[in-house]
Amino acid sequence: MAKLGVLVYPRKLKERATAAPYFDNFAYRGLRAVIGEVDKRNHAVRYIAPHQIDECDFVLVSLTSAWDILSLIHYVPIRRRAKIIAGGQGLVNPRPFMQYLDLAVFGRAEGQINELIDGGRGANVLDVEKDPAAEGNYEYRQAQYLLGDEADTGCIRKCFFCGYGWTHRSLNRGGNYQASDDALYSSSEQFLSELRLTENVHYSAGLDGWSEASRRSVGKPFSNTSLVEKLKTLTEDAAARGWARLSLKLYMIHAYPWEKPLADYTGEMARALADLDGKLSSGRLVIFFKATPFCPEPMTPMARCLPCFDDAWRTMLKNQWLVYQGSHVEARIHMTVPSAAELAHMVFFRRAGREESSVAEMMSRPKYLSLTAGLKLAALSVRGVLGRLTDAAPWSGLRVPGLNPERVASQMGWTY
Ligand code: SF4
Repeated sequence: MAKLGVLVYPRKLKERATAAPYFDNFAYRGLRAVIGEVDKRNHAVRYIAPHQIDECDFVLVSLTSAWDILSLIHYVPIRRRAKIIAGGQGLVNPRPFMQYLDLAVFGRAEGQINELIDGGRGANVLDVEKDPAAEGNYEYRQAQYLLGDEADTGCIRKCFFCGYGWTHRSLNRGGNYQASDDALYSSSEQFLSELRLTENVHYSAGLDGWSEASRRSVGKPFSNTSLVEKLKTLTEDAAARGWARLSLKLYMIHAYPWEKPLADYTGEMARALADLDGKLSSGRLVIFFKATPFCPEPMTPMARCLPCFDDAWRTMLKNQWLVYQGSHVEARIHMTVPSAAELAHMVFFRRAGREESSVAEMMSRPKYLSLTAGLKLAALSVRGVLGRLTDAAPWSGLRVPGLNPERVASQMGWTY
């Protein structure tokens, strides 16, 4: 009988965005499915705190984002008897923290846990003992079946920057978009062109480019004319339903490699919204642009594109926070990544190599985390990390079966 622990941090070191760093902020749909599938006649499972790690034979650790890696490094001892099995959406490049795990399980893990305990190693499992330098080739495993209330996985659109779209294939082949688990906004995110009103007054959708040219460049073509028409239809529909206002959260990406922080950066969008305002005779539309800097995601066509660690972007968007205000339309910016240092952190755990493990360890120290954003960035610059991250190639040992992001990259001129 194997003793399994599910690691729960008493307090995570850091959480993405502004969420408080508690373990139960997230639904852990995949982890819960894995726990449910453990053969309980032969194995015992329990939730454990970090000091109980070595009371177990195996410890399951869920990495939902790059921030969870900091907690892993901080709480898991390098010397241990328990085998750490790490998996989750945040695990796409284990190289800078290999000493804190024993098995890296890439992609979906349903139906796999008992085989792992018994010593089986699928094509999506990196066994650190056998491949300590991560030199092998691994698959990012796809959904075997739907879990809980999942209607589908993946997204048919495959926008060129999207890690989710390029790592999850559709299981039902109907699929567009995953549930967002956002209590205030509609329970499912959609591509804006396909958004239809239901009973909610709040909706979220992806737009992901401030200009028509940027949207086209990332495989998400949506002209300003189509944008105005779509927003007009939605606002009029909401007004016809008697709603005081329609609230839209639109995800936006800035700092694509071809973009510059300009005084008129949001001007094209402001002009489109002014055009919309002039066409509306009733209704009210409130837009929150959730602005995120471009981060090159592994396994996407843009994996090798350059990130920009310049806080000029933040200053510029702060100056332009009120994008437009008119009779029927109001649009503001809310920044999701508070500093270039945070972006550097995100890029680091997607791109850094094994030789950067001492930097990963530094980044997980509470003292480092308490530094101001400027000092964090300076600390990374002093160690030469920013330059190396800008130049670094993503890890080539991980692939999604059947997808070929390199072909799109080559068509777009993002060749390596
Ligand atoms: S950005 Fe949205 S629409 Fe595009 S591939 Fe990703 S999930 Fe799909």
